[in-house]
Amino acid sequence: MKAYPLKFRPVFQERIWGGARLRHLGYAIPSDHVGEAWVISDHDHGPTPVAEGPLAGKRIGEVMREYPDWFGLPRGARFPLLVKVIDAADDLSVQVHPDDRYAGARGDEGKTEAWFVLDAEPGASIIYGHRAKDRESLERCMKEGAWGTLLVKTPVQRGDFYFVPSGTLHAIGKGLLILEIQQSSDTTYRVYDYDRVDASGRKRDLHLEDAMAVTRCPSPQPARPGYARSGRRGAVVEHLIRCEKFAIDRWLIDGEAELSRSSTFLLLSVLEGSGEIRWEDDALPVARGDHLFIPATLRGASVCGNFEGLFSAPIISTR
Ligand code: ZN
Repeated sequence: MKAYPLKFRPVFQERIWGGARLRHLGYAIPSDHVGEAWVISDHDHGPTPVAEGPLAGKRIGEVMREYPDWFGLPRGARFPLLVKVIDAADDLSVQVHPDDRYAGARGDEGKTEAWFVLDAEPGASIIYGHRAKDRESLERCMKEGAWGTLLVKTPVQRGDFYFVPSGTLHAIGKGLLILEIQQSSDTTYRVYDYDRVDASGRKRDLHLEDAMAVTRCPSPQPARPGYARSGRRGAVVEHLIRCEKFAIDRWLIDGEAELSRSSTFLLLSVLEGSGEIRWEDDALPVARGDHLFIPATLRGASVCGNFEGLFSAPIISTR
């Protein structure tokens, strides 16, 4: 079959801190407590089926087995990325994720993630990193629950980008709408949950031992703004991050811009505006809120129109 870009049906996850703002992005959410829309996922906790075309209804993993050349991944690899939109009507718990080595030893998956802030209420903030100078003081603060001393709170605005490597203490704050691009993983060690209780009066579990074992010390720092840019016909490209797991570029498209040839698939998240993706004799309209999979084998692909989008690509480890 001829390759074509895939759109997916999102999977919604209810959370105690979730809200109803995903409705404003056009999602038919089932309640007013939806915290996450998983928009591109092959994770067992919420796989997103293909929405349109001959492959409609299939899971990404199935498409991968049928058309491995669309993905450009090593043989036997699983789909490596997960894209979500997070609506924080309340503060998310303070948490940390393990790296592949720690998680792998426990049958789990490591998680490095990145956030693009889609919307921020005035005064909204995140927690990113900690102030402890060494492991001893880190562990003492965590055991004593000295969160005010330990955690670093940072105000954020719409359009901000944060890279959150595994081992970074972090929390998304109330009033934020965030696009998250991450490793395909659902492994979270919850550190502090503001002593909240659920509808049945119970607190959610904490995972302090694992959290202390994986939290990096000294803490990673948020990258300073001012990303490398490059121009190409029809687009300005801002290089947000290239880490061991993924690369993310922000494209400002005005006119028609060719996509670079890539040995792997690309994911496109449209942040603002609209346009289309063109390939061979075909075209697919895209607009704000769309998330697409672009096969590695899509020939002569270009994007055109007037829109802002994030392109994400997996990084294949050569080790
Ligand atoms: Zn996280």
